[in-house]
Amino acid sequence: MTRFIALFARSQLAFFGLIVLSFILLLAIFTPFLPLNDPNVIDTSNRFKLPFSEGAILGTDHLGRDLLSRLLWGTRLSIAVGLCAAIIAAFIGSAIGITAGYYGGHADNFIMRGVDMLMAFPYILLALAIVAALGPGLMNALIAVAIVNIPFFARNIRGVTIGIVHREFVDAARLSGMSNTKIIITEILPNVFPVIVIAMSTTVGWMILETAGLSFLGLGSQPPQADLGSMLGEARAAIITSPHTSVVPGIMILIIVMAINLVGDGVRDVLDPRLKSGALSTPRSTTEVSKNKSNTGLKNQILLSINALKTEFRIGDRILKAVDDVSLTVDKGQCLGIIGESGSGKSVTALSVMRLVSSPPGVITNGSIDFNGGDLLELSSEDLRAFRGKKISYVFQDPLSTLHPLYTVGQQLSEAIQSNSYVGKSEKNKKALELLKAVRISNPEKRLNSYPHELSGGMRQRIGIAMALANDPDIIIADEPTTALDVTVQAQILKLFQDLRREKGLALVFITHDFGVISQICDKVAVMYAGKVVEIGPTAKILDSPAHPYTARLKSCVPELGQGKRNLLAIPGFPPMIDNMPSGCAFASRCQKVKQNCYLTAVDFTNIGQERGVRCLFPEEIKAG
Ligand code: ADP
Ligand code: MG
Repeated sequence: MTRFIALFARSQLAFFGLIVLSFILLLAIFTPFLPLNDPNVIDTSNRFKLPFSEGAILGTDHLGRDLLSRLLWGTRLSIAVGLCAAIIAAFIGSAIGITAGYYGGHADNFIMRGVDMLMAFPYILLALAIVAALGPGLMNALIAVAIVNIPFFARNIRGVTIGIVHREFVDAARLSGMSNTKIIITEILPNVFPVIVIAMSTTVGWMILETAGLSFLGLGSQPPQADLGSMLGEARAAIITSPHTSVVPGIMILIIVMAINLVGDGVRDVLDPRLKSGALSTPRSTTEVSKNKSNTGLKNQILLSINALKTEFRIGDRILKAVDDVSLTVDKGQCLGIIGESGSGKSVTALSVMRLVSSPPGVITNGSIDFNGGDLLELSSEDLRAFRGKKISYVFQDPLSTLHPLYTVGQQLSEAIQSNSYVGKSEKNKKALELLKAVRISNPEKRLNSYPHELSGGMRQRIGIAMALANDPDIIIADEPTTALDVTVQAQILKLFQDLRREKGLALVFITHDFGVISQICDKVAVMYAGKVVEIGPTAKILDSPAHPYTARLKSCVPELGQGKRNLLAIPGFPPMIDNMPSGCAFASRCQKVKQNCYLTAVDFTNIGQERGVRCLFPEEIKAG
């Protein structure tokens, strides 16, 4: 609860709305106990008294009734009616929406066409028709407003329900033998409930307005009973001569509706987990960089050099250190492997090179990325476009989500080819065909007109690689390109990468969590743990004799052919949380060789000869040679 309030108070407007609304609600609740005049006592000798006159702080209306008293009683009634209407509409509407969404098929069709019919009428017209049929009166106005709003809830909730009804946890519940009712109550409802609350909090204000509208027309509360709408309606005749009689209820409606909407927005922000991490705030096209200028130059063979890179996520007042002090180099034509557990910062490192970490919340706070004679971190997003996809390209993990489902493979390849410079149509087709051949896709002419869903996972990944090749890049960064594929296809893709490197002299940064893959294609490997590089060196040497205890443990998790019987040991414990890093070595709590010193101060990266480096105070002894 305190967390809820803390999150809520982050938005000052919502907090302000909450204070105003609470004050009005308190007034409404305690109206019967306040020393007010009777709201309905007529005193024609004191008509149209101005505000601040004696005995009537807000003045009196056309029948001499006390406006303050009528205002408070009216507010009480309006809020009560609005809330009741919202609850009824939310309840019935959500029930309809969940039923339609859950059962689907004919039930869905039948129910939703009924809802569509209701929706076809303008709100107020429909409400008027309902009240006309039922007869004027506050209760009937409430019913009318509730009915008018049912379609809104039904449509919203049906959409959300459809989104989750085929998810695996619902299937699992079904397989475990739960009845439909039980599934709806225990699996569906908790997932749609936040949406119901959000929809309700943003529509209560609207319902209060609609009820006031009906009362204004004389169809809601009947004299002498006051609600905000009827007060406005009765004051209409005197709007020129005694404007205060309409201004008083008018301002009250304004304040209530505004406060409710502000609170509604705040509630939505708190309940929607996507908004908490700033995921819905439109990210920029390049990651924000906030660091001092650095001067570095590249030496001879080095193609790409990442120096002391630090990338953080700033979410509220939490700072997540996803990547910290990562330094790597890739030579021309070399293959660098980056290996590490899930969450160790591999993707964030790779995305930082392209400045593709979404920002907000991501910020690069230190380091430089030297490529082609300049620091990529100092380029404007306009200048960076000359590198992305052209000199450096990227292959993503999941080939299905990388490709656009509505365009053919040919169209998407053409787009990638086109992005460099204008290319004529026949030229584009020719190039696309060449690319498909380059990634060894059989029957390429036919495949150009296929949609992504018509291809297998391995083929889709080949298309992803073809797109990365479209502009003859110097280096390809491949982020776990084979993790979503099965082992045979993985072997084919790895071979493809090997061949391409040989044919085109490409450099490759290959991210994976699999030592087997690393040993097949990488010249050099960097081991990452909790956002830091803990060991780096030539693949063969590291595999032969790892220096960091973590690398050694990682290696012993991999089965080896022909090594006889050996226990595969999982590493006990978990990596540290990146928003609460220990001050010493991040691996200390899981390390078998840990000593007191490991917990005390941060461990520096040290060279241990022959292109090897390690971040450990007590590294394993490495074999010579
Ligand atoms: P992996 O090594 O599996 O590729 P990542 O580089 O994707 O790991 O993630 C490194 C860390 O950064 C993880 O702890 C992850 O939770 C965090 N992280 C990644 N993206 C975001 C984001 N957009 N917002 C907050 N944290 C993120
Ligand atoms: Mg990743």
